[in-house]
Amino acid sequence: MIRYYPEKIIILDEARIRDSIITKNILSAVEGKNASVSYLGEEKIAAIIQDAKKPENSYGEGKKTLLITANRGEFLKKCPGTNDYICCDYYIIDFAQNCPMECTYCILQAYLNNPFMVVYANIEDLFAELNSRLFADPLKKYRIGTGEFTDSLALEHLSEYSKILMDYFADKPQFIIEFKSKTDYVKTFTDYAGARQNVIISYSMNAGNVNRFEELKTASIEERLIAAAECVKAGYKITLHFDPIIDYDDFETQMAETVNLIFKYLGAEDILYISLGAFRFIPALAEIIALRFPRSRIIYNEFVKGYDKKSRYFRFKREKLFRTVINLIKSHDVKNKIKLYFCMESPEMWNALLEAAPSSDEELGGTLYDKCRSCFKAI
Ligand code: SF4
Repeated sequence: MIRYYPEKIIILDEARIRDSIITKNILSAVEGKNASVSYLGEEKIAAIIQDAKKPENSYGEGKKTLLITANRGEFLKKCPGTNDYICCDYYIIDFAQNCPMECTYCILQAYLNNPFMVVYANIEDLFAELNSRLFADPLKKYRIGTGEFTDSLALEHLSEYSKILMDYFADKPQFIIEFKSKTDYVKTFTDYAGARQNVIISYSMNAGNVNRFEELKTASIEERLIAAAECVKAGYKITLHFDPIIDYDDFETQMAETVNLIFKYLGAEDILYISLGAFRFIPALAEIIALRFPRSRIIYNEFVKGYDKKSRYFRFKREKLFRTVINLIKSHDVKNKIKLYFCMESPEMWNALLEAAPSSDEELGGTLYDKCRSCFKAI
C-alpha cells in the first residue's frame, strides 16, 4: 500500500516538542519528501485549525497537514461503552488523532474537531502518566491499544511511536499492548523479532468487496494477512476484528473468501481472539458519509436506534450476519482454539450465538487478558 507523507508539517514551538524523539523521527523520515515545516505558537495553530475547518472537504484536505503538538489531557483512556451492551474493558493510549486512510464508515469523521493529522510528541508526559496510573491497582488486567483515534500503524514509518511504546512496555509483561491496523506495516515488529510476548498485532477484517469499495487507501485484506503471517514468523500472536460487519452485496461469498484467506496465511493457533461488531453510526456520521462518499450505499438500509443512540441493523439481521461469520470461522477452527466475542452487543446475542454472556465487562476483559497471557513462553 502507499505510505502517507504530509505536504505540510506544523510543530508546536515548545522545547519539549521541538526536542522530542517523535519530532526528530518524523523530520528525519520526511527528508527529501518536500514537506514544508513551520514552528508555531499555540494561538497561531488554533487559528489555522479554525481556518482549515471552513472548506466543505476540510476533513480530506486537512489530512495533508501533520500537526506535531502536545496532548494536554489524559493519554490513557477507557474505551467508551454503555451499560446496556457488553464491552471488553479495553484501554487506549491517545497518542495521535486522525488517519490518512479513508474508510467511508470511519467514526473519526464525525468525532474529531480538527481536520489535521495530529501526533502528540510530549512523550515524557505520556510515560509519567502511565507510571502513575498503570501501577495503582496491581490486580487490574490491562489490555491497552493505540488504534482508537487513529490507526496504530498509519504513521509508524514516520514517528516510530509503536516502537517507542514497545520499549516502554518491554520490562512490564503484566500489561498487554495491542497495535490495531488496516496497514501492512511490519518493520517495527520484525525488528524486535521474538522478544515481545506482551505485544499483540491486530488486523481489521471484512468482506472483500467492503474492503475494495468502503476501505479506501487501506491495505487489501490479503496484504494485511501477509503482514500478519510475517508477524507470526517473528514470534507474535495475532488478533482479528470483524468490525464493522456490513450488510453488503454477495455477503456470504465475499465473507467466505476473506475467512478462507485468513486460514491460508494463519493457523488457528496463531490467532488469540476475533471480535465481531455490526455496523453502527450516529446521525452526524450518516450526513458526512452522504456528503463525502456519495457512491457508498451503506447508510441506506433499515436501522433501529440502539441503547447507545446509534443506528444499528435490526436484531434478526445482525444475528444472520454474525451467524454467517461465526460458522465460517468455526469451519476452519474445528478445535475451537480461537476465542470469539462481540463488541457492543446484548447478552441475548451472546446467548444465541456464543457461549453464555459474560456477567461484566471486567469478566470479558479478564478472559481476553488471560488468553493472551496463556501463550507466554517461559523465557
Ligand atoms: S483505518 Fe480506521 S481510523 Fe483509518 S479511516 Fe479507516 S476506520 Fe478510520
